[in-house]
Amino acid sequence: MAKEMHEFKAETKKLLDLMVHSIYTNHEIFLRELISNASDAIDKVRFEGLTDHNLLADGEDYEIYLLPDAESKTLTISDNGIGMTREEVMENLGTIAKSGTKAFMEKMKEKAGEKGEAAEGENKEEKTASEKDLIGQFGVGFYSAFIVADKVTVITKKAGTTEATRWESDGLGTFSVEAAEKDTRGTTIILHLSDEFTGKEAEENFSERYKLQDLVKKYSDYVRYPIKMDFEIEETPKDADGKPIEGAEKIKRTEVRTLNSMQPLWTRNKNEITQEEYNDFYKAQFSDWEDPMEIFHVTLEGTTEYTALMYIPAKAPFNLYHTDFEPGLQLFSRHVFIMENCKDLLPDYLRFIKGLVDSPDLSLNISRELLQQSRELKTIGKSLEKTILKTLAKMMKNERERYEKFWVAFGKSLKIGVYDSIFSNPDAQEKLKELLLFESSKENKLTSMKEYIGRMPESQKEIYYASGKDRAMIEKLPQMEQLKSRGLEVFYLTDPVDEFCVDTLREYEGKKFRSISRGELDLGDAEAEEVKKETEDIAKKNDGLMKDIKKALGDKVSDVKVSKRLKTSAVCLVADENGPSISMEKTFAAMDNPMFKAQRILEINPHHALFEKLVKLHADGAEGEEFKDYCGLLYTQALLIEGILPDDPIGFANKLADLMAK
Ligand code: ADP
Repeated sequence: MAKEMHEFKAETKKLLDLMVHSIYTNHEIFLRELISNASDAIDKVRFEGLTDHNLLADGEDYEIYLLPDAESKTLTISDNGIGMTREEVMENLGTIAKSGTKAFMEKMKEKAGEKGEAAEGENKEEKTASEKDLIGQFGVGFYSAFIVADKVTVITKKAGTTEATRWESDGLGTFSVEAAEKDTRGTTIILHLSDEFTGKEAEENFSERYKLQDLVKKYSDYVRYPIKMDFEIEETPKDADGKPIEGAEKIKRTEVRTLNSMQPLWTRNKNEITQEEYNDFYKAQFSDWEDPMEIFHVTLEGTTEYTALMYIPAKAPFNLYHTDFEPGLQLFSRHVFIMENCKDLLPDYLRFIKGLVDSPDLSLNISRELLQQSRELKTIGKSLEKTILKTLAKMMKNERERYEKFWVAFGKSLKIGVYDSIFSNPDAQEKLKELLLFESSKENKLTSMKEYIGRMPESQKEIYYASGKDRAMIEKLPQMEQLKSRGLEVFYLTDPVDEFCVDTLREYEGKKFRSISRGELDLGDAEAEEVKKETEDIAKKNDGLMKDIKKALGDKVSDVKVSKRLKTSAVCLVADENGPSISMEKTFAAMDNPMFKAQRILEINPHHALFEKLVKLHADGAEGEEFKDYCGLLYTQALLIEGILPDDPIGFANKLADLMAK
């Protein structure tokens, strides 16, 4: 086949541009990325070889080979993995394979922008740390080769095929593809190192063996296949007893060394593993730069056997709740890798857990589809879930501060888990409820439901909650007034998912959840009783007024009522008890699901001076323009309090201005 030239896709060009101009300082990660690709490629051929024995030659060793050459200024990385066909080369090395890389680019561009504008003398350390963070989160893959190379050549041959392909690019906009000669399956990547990264003068010399050796130890020690490199050894010849012969001329020989230890960490005795080893393994295996928050290393023996090594990361990945996030644990059977993201082990609310399971009970030779239905897998998953939830409960009890950190990072997952229990996982509610925390009006702290009801005065029958964008906004809600004046504790639901979670729970230990902005709020004491009677009297007297306000507002509201819950504010909006709340309506709308509308009820404070004014205007005639304007303005005020923009903000502003001018 003749040599063909191709253009990179536009977004690939942008990514390459970032690599070539090496926006970030951590050049060395290219090696980790390429080794990780090589290791994945070997995983693939090994897995496919289980069902297609023709793919693999007998007794063959899987390996990744590094070949630095200072003279030609190259570093070659070879593997005997699955390799690629010509089509795959075009697809994989011409476009950006994974969506994570795209997201990475966006972030990187933002950073680049920030950098351009950043003031001089900015703290360099800090900048590097945030870049590290980014790369750690995303992993930049094959294209990271262009951080250190000004030309990259790939020669590859797919297992089970006869033709090899050569791909080459300077990363500037085009790449070439042509047929090539290659005896064995797998991929060879030749990096033509930029002058900056080779030679004795270079600050980072990637054609230097000991440098590469260090990097492999640092980033790729637990890679499952040997990473090998030739070392030139010079030594004095030895006599028959093994003693060096004095005065003899040194001889040179080549020694192949394996640079990584490969021993799976999880197979070692727990007592012999240091915290640092656990952390290093985590960072290398799961591409993170930060030490994890929690480590689970568990072994079960009995009818089902497994060893699991799982981690809770320090921070939630940027895309944890996006569809492109791939949850799941790595699966191994007798230390042989089976699959990457096995989703069928842990429930979705533990999607943030990273880790792996190694079990002799999992058969290597079965297809992924069958594996997912396997009973063993279900048993193991249940047991892992139990371990994790138990540890979290313990952490909550004994290390509250640490638990709250966990909660801030991953609490959302558990809350979604409770909500999801209506649809798919009915046990989740029971399992998770004791682990939930919410913001509360008490002491500015995260509070569990148990703590809340432990503090409830005897007269209080229900658990109160309010929802809003943040603590400050909720505290100013008119509906909060009478709860505050009575010193009643209120849960502050500041995450959109909170209210869905609470709605699903309905109650805790026999105490119902009660929104302060939905339905009737009966605080159940003597004062409330009095207010109720008084309000009912006023309502009776002003029935006509309420009806006419409702008429003036049309279908904007489902009802207008004399309020029992307001002390100083003039109006508020509440939602009918049987439908979604106003903040839930907002969430639905944000999810492009405007079907679910709250039934809005406008409540008016009969003790506010405005009420009298309304009575007066109404007496002058319900059809009067001024009365209608007042009704509209009142309603819009109530909307604004809920953080909702009126349909016609200009109309509102004009009406208000007219009124002020009067
Ligand atoms: P990612 O590995 O995250 O998918 P990369 O940009 O690193 O993204 O690689 C793109 C694709 O190229 C890979 O998914 C893989 O299919 C292929 N690839 C990369 N390196 C190799 C290799 N050494 N052997 C076989 N295929 C490879």
